[in-house]
Amino acid sequence: MDKRDYYEILGVSKTASEDELKKAYRTLAKKYHPDVSKEPNAEAKFKEIQEAYEVLSDPGKRGQYDQFGHANPNAGFGGGGAGFEGFDFGDIFSAFFGGGGQRDSSQRTRARKGSDIQRRMNISFEESIFGKREKMKVPIYDECPTCHGSGAKSQSDIHTCSKCRGTGSVVMETQTLFGRTQTRTTCPTCNGTGKEILNKCNTCFGEGVVKTTKEVEVRVPEGIETGQQIRLEGFGNKGQFGGPNGDLYIVFEVKKSDIYERIGDDIIVNIPITFSQAALGDEIEVPTVYGPVLLKIPSGTQSDAKFRIREKGAPNVRSKQKGDEHVIITVVTPQKLSNEQKKLFEDLAKLDSDPKIKSGWERFKEGFSKSKK
Ligand SMILES: [Zn+2]
Ligand SMILES: [Zn+2]
Repeated sequence: MDKRDYYEILGVSKTASEDELKKAYRTLAKKYHPDVSKEPNAEAKFKEIQEAYEVLSDPGKRGQYDQFGHANPNAGFGGGGAGFEGFDFGDIFSAFFGGGGQRDSSQRTRARKGSDIQRRMNISFEESIFGKREKMKVPIYDECPTCHGSGAKSQSDIHTCSKCRGTGSVVMETQTLFGRTQTRTTCPTCNGTGKEILNKCNTCFGEGVVKTTKEVEVRVPEGIETGQQIRLEGFGNKGQFGGPNGDLYIVFEVKKSDIYERIGDDIIVNIPITFSQAALGDEIEVPTVYGPVLLKIPSGTQSDAKFRIREKGAPNVRSKQKGDEHVIITVVTPQKLSNEQKKLFEDLAKLDSDPKIKSGWERFKEGFSKSKK
């Protein structure tokens, strides 16, 4: 099934503010709520709207969606999703905060875990080897400083919900094909909190949370690789009704190095040497991430010869044990010769008598004359 664009579903532009999103969602959720809607396919539409809002209202998920669309390989990170099995008003409410909370309707007040946030961090190759600490600004929903999360203007504005008498849930009768059924569902008046608020807080408009930016110090672990992530527990969006905060996930992207290539915990470097170094042997300096190391090139070294320097690779992100560095030699054929070099090569050519090359040439000639017959 082709998924529709989330912005299109909510009928907002890609640059829509949080308020615009919320307004669009509220209007559509009311229109298509399966309990009340007379529209065809209301249930499917409602699910679609709920999913779109759940993603776009979460700054981390929205960023990912903008970047990757529906193809996001990390989709489904944040907070377990709102779940679409039941359509009570609690679901609408949970969607405002990314959901993921306990859905036990028998619970008196519904503690909800705040939603998770995911951020990317770009680091250099060297930083991925040695790790570092970096401060990062993360937009999150945090407890409203005015009402401390209650959503009320003052303490006296908080009353026990008259509809559910503080239990947070109500029994609803619905007419179905099989007759009347009774279901216990989240109280629509108080959204399951058991409390009614007469005058809402002016800062957060009753939501108990406000959007803000928090500075987080991220410790980049030694040996981290592209696509690996760390979790900062409790650094995500604020939990509700006493629920724990969400988590912050940092996904790393390691920039390619001009010199090194990492394969597993090993590091590969390509080193060019001259004809004479290859023929006569030499001791050369090769770079490692820990500083240059002397490497003995034996005489008669061929192109593509490999040498291993132990424990100069990357540290394993878990065990911290270092891999090896593999040096791959390229023997470089000179492209421009001075007159003197040319003369020397000509003299050398007269002396060249490598048996392997000769027998190879003989074999080629033999094969050639055979195929002509
Ligand atoms: Zn407030
Ligand atoms: Zn209530």
